[in-house]
Amino acid sequence: MRINKELTRKKFEQILGTDKQCYKYLADIKWKDGYQCKRCKCDRFMRGKKPFGKRCAKCHYDESPTAGTLFHKVKFGLSDAFGMVYDIVTSKKGANSIWLAERYGVRQKTAWLFRQKVQRAMTSSLKHPLEQDVDVDEFEIGTPKKNQQGRSHSTNKTRVVIAVENREGKSRTSLR
Ligand SMILES: [Zn+2]
Repeated sequence: MRINKELTRKKFEQILGTDKQCYKYLADIKWKDGYQCKRCKCDRFMRGKKPFGKRCAKCHYDESPTAGTLFHKVKFGLSDAFGMVYDIVTSKKGANSIWLAERYGVRQKTAWLFRQKVQRAMTSSLKHPLEQDVDVDEFEIGTPKKNQQGRSHSTNKTRVVIAVENREGKSRTSLR
């Protein structure tokens, strides 16, 4: 999904407001070039445990759409996690964890840890903007933001990268 115009909160919630939409979003990116089992390379699958997850027909390895992304094993709903990313990215001060905890009804530590993850992903996206084996899915939010390194950036949009690790170096995913 490439969003180049300003993405309002309302619009964001229409696209990624439910857990189902978020799982589908991640699955679409993860398997956009087709499915291949991470373990045995089989390309046949059944439905996995998680929504839009896939389970290898041969070795039964079950892969969640969130596997390898910063959303993996979050202790709250996936759409809340996406919402937090939106808030962190669009807020001028990066949305503090107390505020996030209150808004999403999670413990402050949980919010703080997740925020750290998001910020690390953002930092690494600046450091390694486009590694050749990374498929980047752009998710731009039109909030002007000063570049912390003082270098000029092609746009003034904030980008968040949701990295999907893939040991084969293929079909990594980013939400930027
Ligand atoms: Zn397999």
